[in-house]
Amino acid sequence: MQGIWDPAAEAIPTAAYWDGMDWEYPTYVGYMIHVMQGYQSTMIRWANERPMVTQKSANATIGRIGKLAQHVALGSRCWAAGAACAPTWPLVDAQQRPGANPQRSMNHTCYSVETEGFSKDPIDYGYDYIYSAANPWPTALIDRVVSHGVWFFQQTGLEADPLRIIGHGATDTCTRSDDPGSAFPMVEVQERIAAGVSGSSSGPVTPPPGSSSIDEQLAALAHEDALQAARLDDHDVAFEVINERLARPLAR
Ligand SMILES: [Zn+2]
Repeated sequence: MQGIWDPAAEAIPTAAYWDGMDWEYPTYVGYMIHVMQGYQSTMIRWANERPMVTQKSANATIGRIGKLAQHVALGSRCWAAGAACAPTWPLVDAQQRPGANPQRSMNHTCYSVETEGFSKDPIDYGYDYIYSAANPWPTALIDRVVSHGVWFFQQTGLEADPLRIIGHGATDTCTRSDDPGSAFPMVEVQERIAAGVSGSSSGPVTPPPGSSSIDEQLAALAHEDALQAARLDDHDVAFEVINERLARPLAR
């Protein structure tokens, strides 16, 4: 599994990432949602920096109006999450536990999506408003978090269990307890992603747009088959690794 881009997203590649997966963690374990404490335009500006200046990124960013931009392909690792700190998420690997190995950040096992806006006063710079019951998360943004999540689980083959859909705060209660914050509709997002994955049939593969001739369409289908086979190989490894590593079974 490498180099997969969501066709629904605008591809804006960043230089701030690790290519491929870590040898110890061949696939992702979860879909991690963050709040930027800022604006999507800023993260897109960072993504366009050459040479790299800002050592921060996300696999994808989502704006308040629902703009979806992908910066790091599925199959590579962004720089959105640090090490685990007093995590509440049971899928944190022993090597990612505080103090175990400083090289084992959560970026190795989580596909990260950064969403536009603020869950609290950033204090040392400006903001327009903070998400709350009175200022709820925009529907267009949440819809994209869901649709990109459905794509993530379809592509990886991971079960869209609520346990695999988390906020950054679940792996870092020390400095990220408000990420994405209590106003974020996490349960709704978990339920909608699960419903989206289970409701989507594995219908015929649609050839990519622009494939005009029959030969090109057949070549595209053969390419899809090869990709699917490669993904399935990865999944077998992933589930073996997960089964070996988890001290407790997946449970809600
Ligand atoms: Zn975060």
